[in-house]
Amino acid sequence: MRATTLLGKILGLKKTRILGVTIDDVGVVVDVAPTTRLPYCSSCGRRVRAVHDRYEGRRWRHLDLAAFQVWLRYAIRRVNCPRCGVVVELVPWAENGSWFTYEFEEQVAYLAQRADKTTLSTLMRIGWQTVGAIIQRVLPRHQSTDPLDGLTHIGVDELSYRRHHEYVTVIVDHVKGGVVWAHPGKNAETLNTFFTALGKERCAKLEAVTIDMSGAYLKAVTEASPQARVIFDRFHVQRLAHDALDEVRREEVREANPDDRSALKNTRFALHKNPWNLSTIEVAKVAQVQKTNQPLYRAYLLKESLAAILDGRQVNVARRKLLEWIDWATRSRLRPFCKLAGTVRSHLEGILAYVATGLSNGRTEGLNGKIRTITRRSFGFHSATSLIALIFLCCSGINLRPVHK
Ligand SMILES: [Zn+2]
Repeated sequence: MRATTLLGKILGLKKTRILGVTIDDVGVVVDVAPTTRLPYCSSCGRRVRAVHDRYEGRRWRHLDLAAFQVWLRYAIRRVNCPRCGVVVELVPWAENGSWFTYEFEEQVAYLAQRADKTTLSTLMRIGWQTVGAIIQRVLPRHQSTDPLDGLTHIGVDELSYRRHHEYVTVIVDHVKGGVVWAHPGKNAETLNTFFTALGKERCAKLEAVTIDMSGAYLKAVTEASPQARVIFDRFHVQRLAHDALDEVRREEVREANPDDRSALKNTRFALHKNPWNLSTIEVAKVAQVQKTNQPLYRAYLLKESLAAILDGRQVNVARRKLLEWIDWATRSRLRPFCKLAGTVRSHLEGILAYVATGLSNGRTEGLNGKIRTITRRSFGFHSATSLIALIFLCCSGINLRPVHK
């Protein structure tokens, strides 16, 4: 068997002829050409007769051969397409504009779903930035249906990345449990972009939307999809209670005499934890707070009882208890909780909708955790587009298989 025929079999490239092979300082360089004589236009995909010119020595990285990187080399033609003008030809081994073969890109995407940043970069011998660009190309090749079709119950979540300076808004499908849309930015404007993408007809089919208790979000949802039931994310409600507790604790620390101050400072973790997760020392700390600082202990109880109410499953019971809670918080003489009581009162129906349906962004908590891990892993990507591509690659049900299985 001739060396080029053997290499052709090993590389497994489709519609590609092997013309020759050399080894240079970058690795194995394989001279290739498409098996079809007439070039294809990379813009419209049709055959074109008129060749405009050629670029010598254009290279594409292919999967490694043992110790060597493999590069395909081909003098790519520019064609004069009657429809598209002068454009580069389409080659059978790579996507237009890419410096990597399809197989190489698929391998990178497969690893991006499963391996950490360093493993992937080291194994494939490429930079992390390049990974971002590659998965942006791979993703559309695996998205067959429109993910926005058939949505009924969705959740809106925003996450910060790049040291919390930038945001991405993510829409998850509560029914299928995957990410269906993501866009840079936060707030109502970004949410409106989603509803525009969804279109009137599909907006009308939404039955429930879980959101944070933000007025802007609420307005965006009720305008775009008035029939949908708005559910306030219970974890957002609880986060607000945690924030209020923190505020009370800080105030008490400020006003305490120096002796009590250091004792109070060390209570933060104990007060924020669920009571059944407390260690013996933490139990003692909470008991100490109960003895020495009534306002802070009251704040702790308010936080705890709100969580307990939200654990309930009977709407009527929860409604009565929430109203009692609002009353208690308002009379608590704790400013942060008075404020929270007002927020809970004005969002009562949406909070109770959680009790009725059990739907919250936390229900897809596994998914949320996964998205957050990916966001941390994406650190080093220059653009939100790469982060979004990675989120979709890992959290929208795309099933990749190894290239040569
Ligand atoms: Zn064309």
